[in-house]
Amino acid sequence: METITNLIRKNILSLTPYSSARDEYKNNEGIFLDANENPYGNLNRYPDPYQWRLKQILSNQKKVGIENILIGNGSDEIIDLVQRVFGEPGQDQIIICPPTYGMYEVYANINNLAIISIPLTEDFQLNTEAILAQNAKILYLCSPNNPTGNALENLDCIIENFKGIVFLDEAYTDFSEQPSLVSKIQQYPNLIVSQTFSKARGLAAARIGIAYAHETIISVLQKVKPPYNISQLNQEAAVKALADETQFQNTVTILKSEREKLKNALQQLDFVTRVYPSEANFLLVGMENATAIYEQLIEQQIITRNRSSVVKDTIRITVGTPQENQQLLYALQLVTI
Ligand code: PMP
Repeated sequence: METITNLIRKNILSLTPYSSARDEYKNNEGIFLDANENPYGNLNRYPDPYQWRLKQILSNQKKVGIENILIGNGSDEIIDLVQRVFGEPGQDQIIICPPTYGMYEVYANINNLAIISIPLTEDFQLNTEAILAQNAKILYLCSPNNPTGNALENLDCIIENFKGIVFLDEAYTDFSEQPSLVSKIQQYPNLIVSQTFSKARGLAAARIGIAYAHETIISVLQKVKPPYNISQLNQEAAVKALADETQFQNTVTILKSEREKLKNALQQLDFVTRVYPSEANFLLVGMENATAIYEQLIEQQIITRNRSSVVKDTIRITVGTPQENQQLLYALQLVTI
C-alpha cells in the first residue's frame, strides 16, 4: 500500500486524531462523567463516532470488512473529506468529467485544488486516453452519471491505469443494471466507491453517505472526519431502513417502471427532441426552448431542473410517484413554446 500512502498529504499522515475516553473504555455500562454531557434527557449522549451497528449491517450486506466502510454526513461530506486527505491546497489537481455532479468542483474550489476538466464524449462516455494522459491526485467518476443518467463504460481499465485516487460516485447504482464496483476495492487499492441513502433508500433528510475502500484509505478518512458526524437519530434511521429489504426492492421496482413509462410519454410530446437513456431515478430530456418550458412548469408549481447550461436545451426530471408524473405530463400539455 506504499503507493496509496504516498498520495496522502504529509500533515494528514502525521495527524493525531481527536480521541475520547470511550475509545479506551468500550463498555456501555458505567457512570459516564467523561464527555461533559448532560446526565438528563433522551438524546443527551454523544452518538457512536464509528457507527458500528450500521457498518456491521452494511458489511454483511455488501460482503466487505467493517474496516472498509466509512459513513459520511451524506456523500457530499465524503467528496470533501477525500479532497482534504489527498489534495494539497494550492498544489494538487483533480479531474472531473463534465457534465457531471457539481459538488466535486465546488469542493475543489473550497479546498483550493486545481480542476482539470475532461468532458464526456458526445455519447456521454469517458475520454479514456485524455484522462490517463493526466497526472492528478483524484479522478471523479459518476456512474450512473448525473445529470446525463447513463452508466459509464471502461471503468476497470481507467481505475487500473490511473496513478491517483479514483472516486467512483455510485449514488444511483440501485437503479442501474451496471454492477457496483464495491466488490473490487481490494483488487484496486486506489478505488473509493461512494454510495448514499439519499436516493433509492429514500433517506435524503437523514444525510447518510458511505465510502467503501481499502482499509488504508478508510482509516485515514476516519481520522479526518468530525468525530460525531452522524447523529444518533440518523444512525437509527439508517439501521431501520436496512431492516426492510422488501420495501426497498419494491420502491426501486416502481421507480424504474415509472421511469420507463414517463420516458415513453415524454417521447410523444412534439417539442421533446430527445429523452436520454437513464439508469438512474431521473431523465434528462432535450426540448425545444427548454428554459421557457422549465419556467412555465414552475408557474404551474412543478419544479424540475434546468440543465440547459450544461447540456444544451435540456431539463432534468426526477421520477416521482405515478400521480406526480401524471401531473407533470398534464402540465406539459399546457405549455406553449
Ligand atoms: N452524488 C451524486 C451524483 C448526486 O447526484 C448527489 C445528490 N444529488 C450526491 C452525490 C449527494 O448525495 P448525498 O445526499 O449523499 O450528499
